[in-house]
Parts: sequence; structure tokens; C-alpha cells
Amino acid sequence: MVLNKIGAPLEWTELADPQPGPGEIRVNVAACGVCRTDLHVVDGELPNPKLPIIPGHEIVGRIDQLGSGVIGLRIGERVGIPWLGHTCGACPFCLAGIENLCDYPLFTGYTRDGGFATAAIADARFTFALGETGDDVALAPLLCAGLIGWRSLAIAGSGKKIGLYGFGAAAHIIAQVAIRQGRSVFAFTRPGDTGTQAFARQLGASWAGGSDETPPAQLDAAIIFATAGDLVPAALEAVRKGGRVVCAGIHMSDIPGFPYRLLWEERQLVSVANLTRQDGIDFLRQAPELGIISKTTTYPLKLANEALADLRAGRFEGAAVLQP
Ligand SMILES: [Zn+2]
Ligand SMILES: [Zn+2]
Repeated sequence: MVLNKIGAPLEWTELADPQPGPGEIRVNVAACGVCRTDLHVVDGELPNPKLPIIPGHEIVGRIDQLGSGVIGLRIGERVGIPWLGHTCGACPFCLAGIENLCDYPLFTGYTRDGGFATAAIADARFTFALGETGDDVALAPLLCAGLIGWRSLAIAGSGKKIGLYGFGAAAHIIAQVAIRQGRSVFAFTRPGDTGTQAFARQLGASWAGGSDETPPAQLDAAIIFATAGDLVPAALEAVRKGGRVVCAGIHMSDIPGFPYRLLWEERQLVSVANLTRQDGIDFLRQAPELGIISKTTTYPLKLANEALADLRAGRFEGAAVLQP
């Protein structure tokens, strides 16, 4: 499913099977999650996408071809391909171990072709061996929603009371992680979205309400997964002195002006960008032990546009996953 032009629907296109170059693998795609970031790519909210581009960066599949020089992976092995598709390994950020901020990265489904396809090519060093535990569809959302949530939760700190603004694919996974870690989760949804609030409570949230509501306790930290900039002052208002607000999305509408008192008393406002391979290794090792259950709605690959439209409209709980 190819995006040829920003804002246009994806088009079903018959292409020759791609061949892996040196250091690359070809994966027979079994499932690919649909992420909010795919909407940002389609809508032209991220600069300079490769066009045409095959979106999709939550890929689960099996290796069916190895390029030259690939070591440590074998034909038939199940792997995951995440958003971070390549880094330069030489810039100051890569050398400092913060490759998520690489100056010359490639991102799957944005600047290199992704997984809304029957086959995908990946840089072998940026894939994760998934083993045989868990089914393909349930694993797919872990590869971005889970991973970004994981990184965001780590950056939120070790506080016990965590607010999650926007209870979609990422929040529903990371709420389970936070609860298993002994924390309390406060879930904020669109005002009036009682269905999603019930879903959050069912997953163990201590409280769920609209983003315009005041939670019953001051939060130690809040993570904003939703794309609305006006949630930033709301979240700052909800955290305690010294608390931290983490913006987890790649794109957000403008943040409105707010009084300095919301930031005062050492409250912190930070963003999370991308992932490192170590994030993936850490999270994917722990996910089965934590018993994470991802709630998914599946669509055939040909219905990728419907999946994107349903995501945009908030018509399902959890995550959408495409299957070729
Ligand atoms: Zn770099
Ligand atoms: Zn994503």
C-alpha cells in the first residue's frame, strides 16, 4: 500500500519483490501495526518523507532472504522491524549512545519503505529477534506503541502516580507495564469518551476521566500520547511540585500560552524522540514476563486506508494491525 502523494489515499500497487542489499534482510510480513505516526506521514505533518513511500513501522515477519554479510540471523527466523531503521554510528549522538537522536537516521515507513506490504527490507542491525512466544498480531503494536511508551515511562521517572493523556495503542500497553511495576495509572481520554474510560479501568487504571477533569490525586508524572498541544498546560496543572510531563508524540498541535506558575516549583516538561536499539532489547525481553496483552483490531492489508480512517476517528480501542 503505497503513498504516492501527501494527503492522498494509499494505493494498492503490485511491485517486484525487493532484494536485500549488503547487511540487509528481506522479511515476509505477517502483521504490521498502524500507528498515529503513519497518519502524520500521510497528512504531511512530518518534513521530507521519501515519496513514494510504503508506510508502516510495527512489522512482524519471517526472514526469507539474507543480504551479504548478515550475521546472527537465519532464514525463517521471526523478527520485528521498528521505527528506527538506520543510524549513522558516527555523529556525536550515536557516539554518546543516544542514537535515537542521530543526525542522519532513516525511519521505517517514513524515509525508508515500511511494512504495509507483503515484504519489507530492513537493515539487519536494526531488527529484533522475536522468538516464538506470542502471536504475530499481538506483537506488532509492541514495536512502536509499546516501545515509545516504554521509553516515555522510563523518562517519566520512578513516581508512583502516572497520568496517561490519550488512551490509545501506546497508553493501553504501557498502563499494563506501569501497573505491573506497582504504580497507579490515571487515564485521561477525550471528554465524554466513557467507552475508552471503561477500557482503561478494565486494564487496571485507578482512575479514568476526561482530559478536562482534575484527577483525584496529584500526579508524580504525566505522559501525553495525544496530539493536542492544549494538554500540556493541563498536564502541568495535574503534576505535583518537581513532577515531570513527557510529550511522547512525534507531532503535536501548538501549545497554548500558560502562566509560569504551572512550570514553577521545578516541574519539568520534556519530549521523547524515537527509540534506541537498547530500548527494544529491554522492552521486548520484559514484555512476555510482564504478561502484556495488546488489544488489536485486524484489517486486511488492502484496507489500510480504512484502518487509518478508523484510527483518526478513534473507532477502536487499542491498536489496529494490518495482515497481508
Ligand atoms: Zn548518528
Ligand atoms: Zn509509531
